[in-house]
Amino acid sequence: MVKAIVFSDFDGTITLEDSNDTLSDNFGISKDQRLELFKELINSQGSFRDSFKIMMDNINLPIDECVEYLVERINLDPGFKTCLEYCNKNDICVVIISSGMRPIIQALLRHLLGNEEADKLTIVCNETEILDEKTGKWTIKYKNPESIHGHDKSISIDELKQATELSGYKVDQAKEKPIYFYCGDGVSDVSAAAKCDLLFAREGKDLITFCEKGDIPYHKFQSWKDILNGIKQVLEEGKDVKDLMQNHKH
Ligand SMILES: [Mg+2]
Repeated sequence: MVKAIVFSDFDGTITLEDSNDTLSDNFGISKDQRLELFKELINSQGSFRDSFKIMMDNINLPIDECVEYLVERINLDPGFKTCLEYCNKNDICVVIISSGMRPIIQALLRHLLGNEEADKLTIVCNETEILDEKTGKWTIKYKNPESIHGHDKSISIDELKQATELSGYKVDQAKEKPIYFYCGDGVSDVSAAAKCDLLFAREGKDLITFCEKGDIPYHKFQSWKDILNGIKQVLEEGKDVKDLMQNHKH
């Protein structure tokens, strides 16, 4: 039986760099334009779904060439492998919940972890659709096109909480509730984090700013070494998740 489920964002959380920003800045709209779009989003004008689609549709490179470009440049968080190994040995299931697109995430994970490890992981994300075979023109296909998030991570977590099997693990979440961890770095992680028992938020990123503003409890991490530490404190030492929350008001 699964003891805990670690839900994690991909870009900027499992990896150090954001693959979509990297693509957009090099083959799409300028970095200034992208930052302008992000600024509008933080000030809650416009939807992530629409802005992100603009970013993706402006990338002038076939998807397989995007993948080739990214595998050379995107790095894994230095503590991720060790944490994943620990999870695999201790009946802890790791699930990736991403606003990115499957071909990119899958290729990066295979490159960074090897095919066997990568293919064990459950990935819930958006897809791509080829619009023109000749030119390689593609677009993003959202998991939740009706949502302003494109992929509403909180819906996915609700769905996953109903699953009876996850990444090869048998789970009966109604009978024996696992501890839910969430790891993220961006604003799109806020609604998902609210569905979990403990949020790990990457130091120096938007998610922490957002948590501070909204009084949302979190545990700061610099690398997955800190996440592993936190998981061990809860599962091995029996610490209450509340004791790991940094801005929790008792
Ligand atoms: Mg991210």
